[in-house]
Amino acid sequence: ITVTNKTDHGGDVRLTGISKTYGSFTAVHPLDLTVPQGSFFALLGASGCGKTTTLRMIAGLEEPSSGTVFLGDQEVTHLPPYKRPVNTVFQSYALFPHLDIFENVAFGLRRRGIKSVKKQVEDMLDLVQLGEQARKKPHQLSGGQQQRVAVARALINHPKVLLLDEPLGALDLKLRRQMQLELKRIQTEVGITFVHVTHDQEEAMTMADTVAVMNAGRVEQLGSPTDLYENPQTTFVANFLGTSNLIEAEVDSKTNGDIVLKAGGAGKLVLPEARCSAPTTTGGRVLVGVRPEKISLTHADEAGEIPEGRNRITGRIADSSFIGVSTQYVIDSPVCPEFEVYAQNIDRDARLVPGAEVVLHWNPAHTFGLDAAQS
Ligand code: ATP
Repeated sequence: ITVTNKTDHGGDVRLTGISKTYGSFTAVHPLDLTVPQGSFFALLGASGCGKTTTLRMIAGLEEPSSGTVFLGDQEVTHLPPYKRPVNTVFQSYALFPHLDIFENVAFGLRRRGIKSVKKQVEDMLDLVQLGEQARKKPHQLSGGQQQRVAVARALINHPKVLLLDEPLGALDLKLRRQMQLELKRIQTEVGITFVHVTHDQEEAMTMADTVAVMNAGRVEQLGSPTDLYENPQTTFVANFLGTSNLIEAEVDSKTNGDIVLKAGGAGKLVLPEARCSAPTTTGGRVLVGVRPEKISLTHADEAGEIPEGRNRITGRIADSSFIGVSTQYVIDSPVCPEFEVYAQNIDRDARLVPGAEVVLHWNPAHTFGLDAAQS
């Protein structure tokens, strides 16, 4: 197995102004996107957002309506799929049922007239940890194992880019999780570019170095999983990747890189200016966001013990459910009707039950700001 050199740029994927229209419907708006050689890149979005169409334009299975596709230095926009240095793994992995696993993987080599395939196929089966299964037929393997055969079959042709279209979609949750780690390991080992399409945010976050969140034919935000989670730039991204609590507020003043906002009944909230994607002129409307697990909950009687410098809002517990690692609370508050808080079960306060008056508080560094006018 050739491990691709990270300094080789043959596996860069570069899309410039690529778009796809069907009649008057635009499935993908003109898009510029660069995927560097050797990265694990995910196209993430809800059904119909254009992620598969984008992938198919890279593969050559769909002719773009405008724009160009480059793989490395080579323009491939009008090349048929088989002339591109890419291979695609689909959700329906369509193995040849009458051939054993070895022959399924050897197929691409044999078709190219290569006679001595043994070593290459064995190495590839070892890579996907199916060395022992070589002489079995596809129906004798589990779904996850069959999917690994499909990956091996695609990799044996030494593509510079592997495209994966919801490859784990048919697997149950547990197997899906195992395969996510497995695919990540394989990608790290072979070092080629993987472009992975999924609607599952957890899957994209687990596997990819870079995620492009797509919405209605556009890339809404591009970044590392942590960046997208901690600094969402739009309400769509904030809500698509996990849960976020959003509070409407108005810019009041600025001090030392922080924005101070007025949030109705909540009083003042502080937001680092660097974490705000909205205009920050005084009087501007900002949606102040905070993730549920960043919030602490204190009974109103003990509000005096909350350290200075934390953002705080008052509320009343509407609901709570114990889910083992944490307790999830829904809080009624004047600024956010269904504020969600996930509290770890340390120092559980027996008084934190529905009806209790509480103060929610968090470190301002965990606050992000979105443009209220865009939402
Ligand atoms: P899914 O996860 O459901 O596959 P997706 O994000 O991959 O969704 P695409 O398959 O890229 O979405 O489709 C984007 C939009 O383009 C959809 O609204 C779809 O109905 C439309 N579309 C796709 N192919 C065609 C076609 N051949 N003719 C007309 N419309 C199409």
